[in-house]
Amino acid sequence: MKFCPHCHKRLPAGVRKCPHCDREIPVHTPKMVAIHSLPGKLYAEMVKEVLEKRGIPCVIKTDLLSAAFGSGGISAVGAQATIFVPENRREESEEILHQMLDHI
Ligand SMILES: [Zn+2]
Repeated sequence: MKFCPHCHKRLPAGVRKCPHCDREIPVHTPKMVAIHSLPGKLYAEMVKEVLEKRGIPCVIKTDLLSAAFGSGGISAVGAQATIFVPENRREESEEILHQMLDHI
């Protein structure tokens, strides 16, 4: 869901100009949101590959700190890796991810 940064009304998808206040919508990269944390970069890379095949850009952030000071549940192999996807692709990504995790 996008909102006009000027008048804060709801925007139809893909518009470059707000139909309410007629001002331009700045084009910027969508906000990235975390969808899932995985125990290790290897899993994260697998997920990234699958998501990118579906045309979903994603970013992996590894959290070395949580591995070093982890409070359990984190694999000793590596840091915890969190997958970030654009907010507007979140549901789709989560669905793909759940399907994947079912098969691992
Ligand atoms: Zn507006």
